[in-house]
Amino acid sequence: MNLERLPRVRLAHLPTPLEPLERLSAALAGPGGGPDIWIKRDDCTGLATGGNKARKLEYLMGAALECGAEAVATQGATQSNHARQTAAAAARLGLECHVLLENRTGFTDRDYAENGNVLLDRLCGAVVHRCPPRDDMEAALAELVAGLPGGADRVYAIPGGGSNAIGATGYANAAAELVEQTDAMGLGVDAIVLASGSAGTHAGMVTGLLGAGSRIPVYGVSVRAESAPQEARVLGLARETAAHIGLPGTVDAAVIRVDDRFVGPGYGVPAESTVEAVRTMAELEGILLDPVYTGKTFAGLLGMIREGAFRSGERVVFLHTGGSSALFAYPGWFEAKRAQAA
Ligand SMILES: *Cc1c(COP(=O)(O)O)cnc(C)c1O
Repeated sequence: MNLERLPRVRLAHLPTPLEPLERLSAALAGPGGGPDIWIKRDDCTGLATGGNKARKLEYLMGAALECGAEAVATQGATQSNHARQTAAAAARLGLECHVLLENRTGFTDRDYAENGNVLLDRLCGAVVHRCPPRDDMEAALAELVAGLPGGADRVYAIPGGGSNAIGATGYANAAAELVEQTDAMGLGVDAIVLASGSAGTHAGMVTGLLGAGSRIPVYGVSVRAESAPQEARVLGLARETAAHIGLPGTVDAAVIRVDDRFVGPGYGVPAESTVEAVRTMAELEGILLDPVYTGKTFAGLLGMIREGAFRSGERVVFLHTGGSSALFAYPGWFEAKRAQAA
């Protein structure tokens, strides 16, 4: 694995911290103990409140600049964290930015439509375009780019979630960073739990671990798709990423695992377990998760622990991929619970 030869612009605060969650681990331990939960703070990458897209954008913006692009365009759901971080990266690099936001949830309230990430998209100077739900959002993005001055010659299109082989390389790099950190700490890790959405994070992590010679199992928690199609998508992208970064051999399908039980009503719609997970992390650790991705992912980890998936003392790393800005677009879901009497 040689990432040095790929175009990259430094945008993220790296390495992100890897920290133990002691109160959470103690609270979740049963009579026979429980796993030690660690958190990889990719919510602290910077770029307008942080998150996983910062790592992908280092390589995507590197490619855009290499093409001589003067503008970038991308697409996502209305409350896309990817759109927000793309807007921030473009601002930092002096590029014009267009974001195409799909109303995937059908929510029409003002907070969802305008607060949270949308407020930050605009604050960073992005031009916001909207569209109703569409099956092929990449085609919608291509149409948008074609209609902008200079078209694709001037405007670099970044796929939704930044999830192509170029973007996923950011997570191959994150895997190398994590292995370096755990080696330096002498920390043996038994599992990594992460969100599986547009798949770049999951695919990049799996590919990077392979490149680093690590055998840590990765558990993806789906935020949208059913397990089988999501596993196929992650595997396809992992193989493309392996080729992109020059990894010999192929990615084995057996290392791709996706759990689809925590999606709830659908993409971008919190389940009861999502709200519980967001509250638990905030109340026990003062760390903010989000209603669309990390809340569902952490609900998945809570579910695995309750099912006894981990032995006492096993170490599990929860990858915090960011997204807390979206909390402000979902205020009704997280109204303060009455304080419990001490
Ligand atoms: C985009 C996103 C994810 C999912 O990452 P993918 O690479 O799209 O699978 C997870 N968490 C947050 C906060 C995100 O914004």
